[in-house]
Amino acid sequence: MIHSFDALILGGGAAGLMCAIEAGRHNRRVALLDHADRLGKKILVSGGGRCNFTNLHTQPENFLSSNPHFAKSALSRYTPADFIALVEKHRIPYHEKTLGQLFCDRSARDILAMLEEECRAANVTIFLNAKIQEVTRTTEFVVRTANAQFQAPKLVVATGGLSIPKIGATSFGYDLARQFSLKIRDPWPGLVPLVLEANDRSRYCDLTGVSAEVIASCDGQRFREKMLITHRGLSGPAILQISSYWKKPQQITLDLAPENNLTAVFENPKAARTLTTLRTEFRKALPARLADRWLDHHAPTSWTNAALKNLEHQAHAWTIVPAGTEGYEKAEVTAGGVDTDELSAKTMEARKVPGLFFIGEVVDVTGHLGGFNFQWAWASGAAAGRSL
Ligand SMILES: Cc1cc2nc3c(=O)[nH]c(=O)nc-3n(C[C@H](O)[C@H](O)[C@H](O)COP(=O)(O)OP(=O)(O)OC[C@H]3O[C@@H](n4cnc5c(N)ncnc54)[C@H](O)[C@@H]3O)c2cc1C
Repeated sequence: MIHSFDALILGGGAAGLMCAIEAGRHNRRVALLDHADRLGKKILVSGGGRCNFTNLHTQPENFLSSNPHFAKSALSRYTPADFIALVEKHRIPYHEKTLGQLFCDRSARDILAMLEEECRAANVTIFLNAKIQEVTRTTEFVVRTANAQFQAPKLVVATGGLSIPKIGATSFGYDLARQFSLKIRDPWPGLVPLVLEANDRSRYCDLTGVSAEVIASCDGQRFREKMLITHRGLSGPAILQISSYWKKPQQITLDLAPENNLTAVFENPKAARTLTTLRTEFRKALPARLADRWLDHHAPTSWTNAALKNLEHQAHAWTIVPAGTEGYEKAEVTAGGVDTDELSAKTMEARKVPGLFFIGEVVDVTGHLGGFNFQWAWASGAAAGRSL
């Protein structure tokens, strides 16, 4: 059976859904194909089930890409305000949690239901359980699944990255890009917990659950947020953010007590220069268990001013060389992807292959934690959808 459309969109996640809605609204006959048994599975698990659907302060600086300018055009033409207008049209209650991050009051299901309803209104035809076997291009693009064939002059790839294979992530998008000789920036797991090497793990990981506000830095980037100790290493927003910039064997620097002068007490000549005094000061700035444990392994070598200065420095620039990350099983995103040099920033169309588009996470544009990845999915999806 052959189905003919104006455009085929492969992948019914955030980007594919938005693209289908925009194209449908522009009177294109659109088919949305997904291999899963339902759309938007990642939307449902996002933001702890409440979907951090955008960020009020979205700026190009919130994205990693080998071309930092690439995302600007799409982001400026579909803004957080555009998505919020859609959310409000559907009367979905939401709130700002922190730092401009908008979450549903009730459930991520509200966002998916909204997108599905918009798809219906835009006459998008949805094919679930579509196991794609082959994509070819003759005069049109032809997509063959186990029991049907689809054809259209436009093909949009919105199959996401490699994160969370358990809920359907595949390398399909990268493979297809390669099939059409488009360059890929090697993907890596982003927004992912870090695993400590054995020594540090035995020193700190029994403190699982302890968290502290830190500044995590790597590769010229810094994030001041919470860090959490896990049973294998480090997590929490500060670590997830910096993980996207980290590559083995780089080190990560942690300021354990931003803006605190932990040894100031010793400027008073009457202060006893003892570990007890030091512990008391560290405990004011850090959770007690972390303060004690860190000092167990960084006790000053002497009580001279120089040694104390050195200790102060170490506490604000504690360097860690992680053994690795928790990988795609735990990564919220996949960084890298289809090289932006291959795509039009305005439409997401491949320059070398007219009619072929890549949107969302499969593209080498990766957001920081905080609703930016969905904003990229909506913006890149809308950019392609309007031009189909
Ligand atoms: C646990 C978790 C929580 C997150 N929370 C947030 C958050 O709160 N805010 C935020 O901004 N971002 C969040 N993200 C990131 C965000 O979910 C993604 O960046 C975003 O979903 C990417 O959208 P996409 O449409 O490009 O890809 P996806 O949403 O991954 O959609 C890809 C679609 O393609 C389909 N597909 C894959 N391979 C094939 C194939 N071979 N054939 C057919 N179909 C295929 C999949 O089934 C899927 O439906 C989170 C991610 C995770 C894993």
